[in-house]
Amino acid sequence: MLDQCRYNRRTMRARQFIPEVQRVLEERGEPTYRLGQAYAALTGSLVRDWEEATSLPQGLRRTLNLEAPAAVLDLRRTWRATDGTRKYLFYTHDGHAIETVMIPEKGRHTVCISTQVGCPMGCKFCATGLLGIKRNLNAREIAEQVFVAARDIAPERVSNVVVMGMGEPMLNYNETLGALKVLNDPDGFGLAARHIALSTSGLVDKIRRFADEPEQFHLAISLHTPFEDERRELMPVAARHTIPELMEAARYFVTRTRRKLFFEYTLLAGVNDQPRHVEALAELLDHPLYHLNLLRFNWTDTGFSATSKRDAREFLRYARELGLSATLRPSRGQDIDAACGQLAAKDLRGRPQGMAQPVAITLGE
Ligand code: SAH
Ligand code: SF4
Repeated sequence: MLDQCRYNRRTMRARQFIPEVQRVLEERGEPTYRLGQAYAALTGSLVRDWEEATSLPQGLRRTLNLEAPAAVLDLRRTWRATDGTRKYLFYTHDGHAIETVMIPEKGRHTVCISTQVGCPMGCKFCATGLLGIKRNLNAREIAEQVFVAARDIAPERVSNVVVMGMGEPMLNYNETLGALKVLNDPDGFGLAARHIALSTSGLVDKIRRFADEPEQFHLAISLHTPFEDERRELMPVAARHTIPELMEAARYFVTRTRRKLFFEYTLLAGVNDQPRHVEALAELLDHPLYHLNLLRFNWTDTGFSATSKRDAREFLRYARELGLSATLRPSRGQDIDAACGQLAAKDLRGRPQGMAQPVAITLGE
């Protein structure tokens, strides 16, 4: 009975995730279990060419390669930073560039994924925001970023996924959640929900909806200042919701889920790093499940500069003194523009696609 339920669930998820494959299978009159096999090959064995899917008959593999290829993203380039961080540049089938980052840290391998080509939110300090929005990524394009990184680091395993790359995931809710469910699916990629986190600039209705999802995904809200006028300056589009409205949604999230809620706070020199900010944060973040995640600004060509390491540590010390649960996150991958807010595929911006130099890397090494 249980097996039948699991089988049905996998078939349903597969239908949503790979409808093109289902269409080919139906046209060929293949038995229904082939869809589950194809889904397992993509999301579990991480095949990027159906020839690698040895559970499928050879004729079918050939047809699938022609009509519904296993890889939807074209991996064009990989960079490796001195601290071990890797950045991947992909092209979508319609010629858009997106970036993904893999961060190795204390035995963990965190993959930071993108959900949109660009971003419409226009945060003043963010390189992705400068691009504007081209289009949403679909669930397969979102999940495939993790599959490629996982192959790249094998036999090491991806231990965490953070939705903190290009784009505002809550503006692409269904496709993002579809991807996260596949990543979490024990019959798919199989990563525990508590190892998956999503960051939002603060769309309150979607924060509530996310809280109502059955999976135990983590959530981070980009706050950046406790003051309304400053927030409106820094994050113009996010200001469609006031801070009290945002905090109401935050309260709903922790009450409903009993999960820790992270507040992202990028320290910008002279802008949001003063003692008065700490004091107002201590008032605002008034729930034991709230956690303040400080990060120094990563350079982007936006006119801001980073709070010094010393001042950031002092900000952290004062926050803790006032009773906040807080940490200061080290910045990773800066020398290859892979740190938070730096993703923009900028070396290729404005150039015709054909001029990109493909760089061969060995997957699964
Ligand atoms: N759009 C979502 C998730 C992607 S951005 C969001 O904004 O939450 C991931 C995090 O990087 C956010 O907290 C964002 O505010 C932060 N960020 C953007 N630009 C940055 C920069 N230049 N330096 C440091 N953090 C930055
Ligand atoms: Fe978009 Fe997030 Fe960048 Fe703001 S910080 S522009 S929401 S990607």
